[in-house]
Amino acid sequence: LRPILVAVLRAVVFDVDFTLCRPGPELSALGYRELGLRYGLDLDPALYDEARAAAITAVKKHPELDHDEEIWIVFTEQIIRGMGGTGDTYAAAVEMESRWVESAHFELYEDAAPTVRALRGRGLKIGLLSNSSRDLAHFVDHHRLEADAFLTSRAHGKTKPHESIFRAVLGLLDVDPCDAAMVGDTLHEDIEGALSVGMGAVLIDRAGRYPEIENRLTDLAGLAAALGLE
Ligand SMILES: [Mg+2]
Repeated sequence: LRPILVAVLRAVVFDVDFTLCRPGPELSALGYRELGLRYGLDLDPALYDEARAAAITAVKKHPELDHDEEIWIVFTEQIIRGMGGTGDTYAAAVEMESRWVESAHFELYEDAAPTVRALRGRGLKIGLLSNSSRDLAHFVDHHRLEADAFLTSRAHGKTKPHESIFRAVLGLLDVDPCDAAMVGDTLHEDIEGALSVGMGAVLIDRAGRYPEIENRLTDLAGLAAALGLE
């Protein structure tokens, strides 16, 4: 990653999942197990990690980067099948996928709210930008976050890393790309997408997925310094 080259930092845009929050128990291996039983599916939680990794490898992104719910239902169905689900797994996948919309099914990382509050306290605008169908107004409210603008791929129509979704959230924040930085956990969608429109970008690699990236952070503790604020 090249160093951040923001002219005058005026706004910070955060990705949501795995940057500010993680999925809770409803979305875990045991969540699949419990949901599956209601559909007559005997899912083995021990197979979850392997099933999810295989589904990630196989997932097909929309060629035009359109928001497409069906892609994630197919993805979820593949996890269910990888955990031992057979027969009709579609309805269970639809219900599991719908759980990703609920704010209460996520837990903020401990550093999320304090970091956002501190940046906002310095006069920076805060945006949230998520490839999801979640109601981010509700999410912000439920988790007592503060944000000046938020946008999902469902509301916008395109997903990260499409440049239009970055431009759209910057429009809501009323800042130029060169005055804003993106903070996210996904190299392609968050970081490359932001850099392509001229934003700065900071990779938050909590899970250690990108050891080869030099100036990544493993949590939000060093974010202010990475943004050149300290
Ligand atoms: Mg993310």
